[in-house]
Amino acid sequence: MPENCPVCHQKYEMETGFWYGTGYVSYALAVAVSVATFIAWYVLIGISVDDNRIFYWLGFNCFFLIAIQPWLMRLSRVIYLYFFVRYEDDYESTKPKEFDA
Ligand SMILES: [Zn+2]
Repeated sequence: MPENCPVCHQKYEMETGFWYGTGYVSYALAVAVSVATFIAWYVLIGISVDDNRIFYWLGFNCFFLIAIQPWLMRLSRVIYLYFFVRYEDDYESTKPKEFDA
């Protein structure tokens, strides 16, 4: 990941350890994906206590979350950075956002 935006020169890592917060966003996204796959599994295959269908969903969901991890990680970084840095129309004339600590 580059240190600054190549267009507006916004620094990405706002402070040391800034990206630790993406863990919470990533967690929320993973829960949302899990709920979505559970609903899809329920509709398409069905959930039953009589056989192991719910455990097949669990296994599928595990591998699916691992497979989409590169996208989840990047998406959670975008969402987390957007909490602090919003798009600015006149980015050419304004300074990039910084934390004042
Ligand atoms: Zn930019």
